[in-house]
Amino acid sequence: MVECSGVTPINERRRRRQIEVGNKLNVLMITIDSLRADHLGCYGYQHHTSPNIDQLASEGVLAERFLCSSIPTHPSYTTLYTGQHAIRHKIVAHAGKNVLAREAPFLSELFMDAGYNTCAADNLMRARLWFGRGYEYYIDSSIRRPLVVNVSCEDINARTIHWLRTHPDEPFFLFLHYWDPHYPFTPPPSYRHLFYDGANPTDPDNHTLDKWWEYPFGSIARDTWLRTPDGPITDPDYVMALYDQEIRYLDDHLPELLEALDVLGLTENTLVFLVADHGESMTEHGIFYEHHGLYDCVLHVPMIARLPGRIKEGTRLPQILQMHDVAPTILEAAGLPIPEEMDGHSFWPLLTGEGQVGGYKSVISLESSWQSKWSLRTDRYKFILSRVPDFYGNPLQELFDLAIDPQEEHNLAEEQPAIVSEMEAELEAWIAARLKEEIGTGPRHLSAAHQVLHNLLAGEL
Ligand SMILES: [Zn+2]
Repeated sequence: MVECSGVTPINERRRRRQIEVGNKLNVLMITIDSLRADHLGCYGYQHHTSPNIDQLASEGVLAERFLCSSIPTHPSYTTLYTGQHAIRHKIVAHAGKNVLAREAPFLSELFMDAGYNTCAADNLMRARLWFGRGYEYYIDSSIRRPLVVNVSCEDINARTIHWLRTHPDEPFFLFLHYWDPHYPFTPPPSYRHLFYDGANPTDPDNHTLDKWWEYPFGSIARDTWLRTPDGPITDPDYVMALYDQEIRYLDDHLPELLEALDVLGLTENTLVFLVADHGESMTEHGIFYEHHGLYDCVLHVPMIARLPGRIKEGTRLPQILQMHDVAPTILEAAGLPIPEEMDGHSFWPLLTGEGQVGGYKSVISLESSWQSKWSLRTDRYKFILSRVPDFYGNPLQELFDLAIDPQEEHNLAEEQPAIVSEMEAELEAWIAARLKEEIGTGPRHLSAAHQVLHNLLAGEL
């Protein structure tokens, strides 16, 4: 028998590749848009929204106080990928004018450069091209839907599981972006009976949502997905139940993805990392079903990681952690170098129990899409500073004592001027120092510092 010289049979090539990459860790990133932590069972929610996410958490580690660095979607995903605070990557606004610098580190690209097969099931690249960086495969199932947010977990799983089956012996970085809990809340009909025990969702005497109808998304909701033969939905508990039903729908479809890893023999060598880009305000602070405002209903998101044999089962981390820590953490897990340009710190030793590094005494978050706000959070307090009045009429300065008021219902700014003054000074000093680093220190910049800050917040830098 004559062998073809110079051509290695495909099975042999695959075998050699397996030897080359055999010890590389796979990464499965599960990101869920608009999922607030406190609506999951593993974060204490009273409704049974998340049995499978809870199970995943019980098999790995859960971060109890994981906070977004910037919101909403575009700033937060850019932070997730770059490991940078928004003040550095400058994508401070959703759908803003800034473009991510080519030199900015990017998680998927770093994995591709390290020899990984990279795949995203996402559609953010349609809005901003940098979200496609580093991906050899980019699966956008939403192309078949009227809106990008209409893509379902079933759409994503169908394509992703097929992709996994066709690339089982190559190390992969696989990034999923589920949209189910994102507005509009339109779960499948079979979920519509869950989580609502009110008497009359269309009670015409219930005026709680009247203010929402004055906002564009509110009036659209009233006239479309909240419209019923008995009139529009008027009970906010019903709207919240719809949101919870979306979570449960997604949760019910998580096992088929994880079982695909099992069937392919990949579970033991795949880091599963679950996180959300921001939460969702459910009428808190007059913000109806939107993801803005720097309150914990939006900033506090789930972070769960599983890697059998490395991450100790059932661990809960009490430390304050932030979104820009994710990229360095995943790079360290995979044994890849962490670029100096990343602001975040790896908390991989916390996940494995090998060290107590990681966690912050205070963290800073920002929003500059529909509001111009900064927040400084310590172990006990959160201070929120507005540069301009927001259209909900919330105060320009807010201070919450999270130890006794975790729902952030009692603004202490006037009662506690000394704490406000101290936290404001710390926040402004941090902003000024970072802007100096990013923008420069020349006289023009110093004299125009306030204008520069305003422009940064407006996404116009
Ligand atoms: Zn989002």
